[in-house]
Amino acid sequence: MKPWTIAIDGPAGAGKSTVARLLARRLGYLYIDSGAMYRAVALLAQRNEVSPDEADAVSALTRTARISFQSDGDHQRLFLSDEDITEAIRAPDIATLASKVSAIPGVRAALVTQQQALGAQGGVVMEGRDIGTVVFPSAELKVFLTATPEARAERRLQEIQARGHVNATLESVRADQDERDHRDATRAISPLASASDALEIGSDGVGPEQVVEEIIQCIDARRRGA
Ligand code: C5P
Repeated sequence: MKPWTIAIDGPAGAGKSTVARLLARRLGYLYIDSGAMYRAVALLAQRNEVSPDEADAVSALTRTARISFQSDGDHQRLFLSDEDITEAIRAPDIATLASKVSAIPGVRAALVTQQQALGAQGGVVMEGRDIGTVVFPSAELKVFLTATPEARAERRLQEIQARGHVNATLESVRADQDERDHRDATRAISPLASASDALEIGSDGVGPEQVVEEIIQCIDARRRGA
């Protein structure tokens, strides 16, 4: 059977990464975190001292950037040219900057083209904000994962602290999240939105394994034509 393309979208902190990674492992598919690519552009802009207000300059940087993923067992490492930037892109200031540069049409055009090429063969689980609406509008399965803002902020705080950013507080994470949500949902191009044919799943109080189970059941049912 032809391998599927599976899109997983949703706001920050809904648990997309864990669900997408587990799902890809279950299916033997490639997992791609599209947000990491926007974060790579943010890091590049920061290092080059290019402000996110300079749309043309950030777009030009994006077009010349060599962003690539390398698999590391179950996980994935992100490279900018030959440099491993997997940890560097997880800093909280890079998340904010990523949300700013991702509103630039030239940045999106360049990254969407790369994402489409990465998933061209199918057999891929890609997570992001616009995968089901823009990158793969004909994906065989689209999931929109949501959770309450409180639950999302809690999840993000745990992730950030686990990465060693011990000064982060629930209040600071929630404030950054609200700002990012607002920017992602109201930008003119490819705003965060659920595709009309997406399977909507709430992850409040539900573990990632359970969410994956629900998705697998949906895949099985669709394959049986149910
Ligand atoms: O998913 P993550 O939180 O790492 O994404 C960082 C930022 O990249 C998001 O806040 C969003 O602005 C942007 N993004 C996007 N489209 C995607 C994935 C991420 O605009 N497909």
